[in-house]
Amino acid sequence: MLASIRRWFVNDSHPEAEGESAATDWPRIMPFVVLHVAALAAPLSGFSIAALLVAALLYAVRMFAITAFYHRYFSHRAFRTSRWMQLIFATVAASAAQRGPLWWAAVHRRHHAHADTLDDPHTPRHGLLRSHVGWFLTREHYATRVDAVKDWAAFPELRLLDRFDALVPVLLAAGLFGLGEWLDALFPALHTSGWQMLLWGFCVSTVVLLHATLMVNSVAHRFGDRRYATGDESHNLRWLAWLTFGEGWHNNHHRYAASARQGFFPGETDLSWQVLRLFARLGLVRDLRPVPAHILEEGQSR
Ligand SMILES: [Zn+2]
Ligand SMILES: [Zn+2]
Repeated sequence: MLASIRRWFVNDSHPEAEGESAATDWPRIMPFVVLHVAALAAPLSGFSIAALLVAALLYAVRMFAITAFYHRYFSHRAFRTSRWMQLIFATVAASAAQRGPLWWAAVHRRHHAHADTLDDPHTPRHGLLRSHVGWFLTREHYATRVDAVKDWAAFPELRLLDRFDALVPVLLAAGLFGLGEWLDALFPALHTSGWQMLLWGFCVSTVVLLHATLMVNSVAHRFGDRRYATGDESHNLRWLAWLTFGEGWHNNHHRYAASARQGFFPGETDLSWQVLRLFARLGLVRDLRPVPAHILEEGQSR
């Protein structure tokens, strides 16, 4: 029990990880359960425009950080940026309670290397529910497999963030509670409160963001269209691309994962790509890797 709780805060790689059981580790998933109960209880705190706006804003900013940085930058190195930018957006992404940048990228690299085989951490071939949430609630997936992310493990600040990733969402939640109380005291006309900011602004926003991200692993590996004949079960799903700022073009992505772009064709809206292009114009990121012409030709013929 204590060892499980200790791992809420210490995710360093441990050598026994490879041999750990696939069984669910209940004490370790309590924060996940509490987060969902709190999100469901949000209406009890009442509503306010301020709290809903903060929830929407935090969804958007953190979804961008997850898709553009955890996914396209840390997992696939699809563009370049400064050490400060990578730390800032890794921290923003960590506040989404999807673990640290090293853990996320290590799992995702393994997914691409073994997509929809027995070694894929979250293939729906073991069941849709297991591919959605079951896989990361097992003991074998807690530790960060540093071997897969040696490039990023060279940065001590990223290792520190990965080790204490759980503190980031906790600090954001506490800060939001304080913000709500402060707003209530200063601007009572907003009719908001610390509880509203905590439950809507943090819990609801985080839960929706989490399940939208997880659907790329589960739903997009079973339902949708397949533009490319990849050797896996990846699909394109327009509505999921809207929810996840471009990640729903998952079959495109499995055909050519090195690109910073996932909506390859006109009409395939990829919001993260649009923001990354803006960032490039502002000099915040550089060398956005495009989709090669032969990949576009291959997709056009289908
Ligand atoms: Zn995939
Ligand atoms: Zn990927």
